[in-house]
Amino acid sequence: MTEIKLVFDEPKQRVKPPVHFADLEPDARKARAVELGIPGFRANQMAVHFFTHYSDETDTWSDIPKDLRETLAKEFVPKLITLVKSVTTDSGKTRKDLWRLHDGVLVESVLMRYSDRTTVCISSQAGCGMNCPFCATGQSGLTRNLTAGEITAQVVAAARICAAGELPGGETRLSNVVFMGMGEPMANYNAVMRSIRNITTPQPDGLGIGARSVTLSTVGLVNGIEKLCDEGIPVTLAVSLHTPDDELRDTLVPINSRWKVREVLAAADKYEAKTGRRYSIEYALIRDINDQAWRADLLGRLLRNRNAHVNLIPLNPTPGSKWTASRPEDEAEFVRVLEGYKVPVTVRDTRGREIDGACGQLAASEIISGDEKAK
Ligand code: SAH
Repeated sequence: MTEIKLVFDEPKQRVKPPVHFADLEPDARKARAVELGIPGFRANQMAVHFFTHYSDETDTWSDIPKDLRETLAKEFVPKLITLVKSVTTDSGKTRKDLWRLHDGVLVESVLMRYSDRTTVCISSQAGCGMNCPFCATGQSGLTRNLTAGEITAQVVAAARICAAGELPGGETRLSNVVFMGMGEPMANYNAVMRSIRNITTPQPDGLGIGARSVTLSTVGLVNGIEKLCDEGIPVTLAVSLHTPDDELRDTLVPINSRWKVREVLAAADKYEAKTGRRYSIEYALIRDINDQAWRADLLGRLLRNRNAHVNLIPLNPTPGSKWTASRPEDEAEFVRVLEGYKVPVTVRDTRGREIDGACGQLAASEIISGDEKAK
C-alpha cells in the first residue's frame, strides 16, 4: 500500500492566507476596489458572481473586461481551498470533501441531502484546541484558525455543488449550514461571525441563507455565547453539554474547568431570552459513561423549565477509542426519562459514519493512503 503524503512540511513561519472578498464587509469590498483604482460597482458584480452564481472562476465573468479579471482573481478571489478528494455514501447523498488550504493544511466538510433540506457541516478551525477525549478532531490539537474567507469558501462550494445538480436527486438549494465540523467556532469568533454574515446576508452581498438555518455549535465558551447575544443574528445555538454534572464534564469537555454547567446554561438562557430562539443541547451517548438513567434524570431536572431541545448523538467511536455507543435499551430509557420531564428530545442519525464523516469523526489525516484511507 503506497502512502502519499499530502501535506507539505509545516512552514516555519505561517504565511497568512491571501485576503479574499469574503474576508471583508460589503463596504470594505468597495473601498478596497476603489483603493486599487477599480470602480466601486465592480464590487457589486463580484458579489453577484460569488454569492449568487457561486463562481470564483474570473475567466467566465463576461461582464468584466478581460484585463481586469486577472487583477480581480488575484486581489479578491484567490483560491483559498482546493479539493483533494471527495468520498460519498448513502448512494451519494452524503459527501465528505477534503480541502487543502494555501499552506497545505487540510480540513473537511460534509454535505448531506435529506428529503426536505440540504445541509453542509463546515470546519471553523484546522484541528481543535478543546481536547474532548471522545472527538477525533481534538486528538491532534489545534493547527490554526481558518479565515472568514476559508470558512465561507466551504459553504460557497457546497452551494455550487447543490446548484450544479451534482447530488443525486438533481439541482437543489443549499438550505442549512452547521458549524459542527472541525474546530471550536467560539474560539475563532471574529472569522466565524464574518462568515455567518456572508452566509446570512441577502444576495448579492451574501448567500441569503436564513440565520435560523445556521447552527453554531460550541463546547460552551461563555464569553463567546455572551458576545453572540449582541450580534443581532438569531442563529441556532447548540451547546455540547454531554453530561449534566460537572464532575464528569470536567473530563469529557475539559473547558468545563473554566465554565461550569450552570454558567454555560445561564449563558444559553440569556441567548434564548435575547433572540427568542430555542437552543439545542448536544449529548453524545457513550456506553456506561454518561448514559445512565440517573444522568437522564438530572438532565431532565436541569432542562425542564428551559427552552431547550436535546439532541442525542450515538457516539461515533474514533480510532483507538475505548468508548462506544450506548446499548439500544439504555438509549431508549434515556429518551423516556427526558420525555417524562417534557424535554423535547431527538436522536440524531449517524449519517456519514462509514466515511468517517459523522459527528466528531472529522480529522483530516496528514497521511492518506492511496486507496481511500485504507478502506
Ligand atoms: N466544537 C464544537 C463543534 C464541533 S463538533 C462543539 O464541540 O460543539 C459537533 C458535535 O459533535 C459536538 O456536539 C461534539 O461534541 C460532537 N462529537 C464530537 N465527537 C463525537 C463523537 N465521537 N461521536 C458523536 N458526537 C461527537
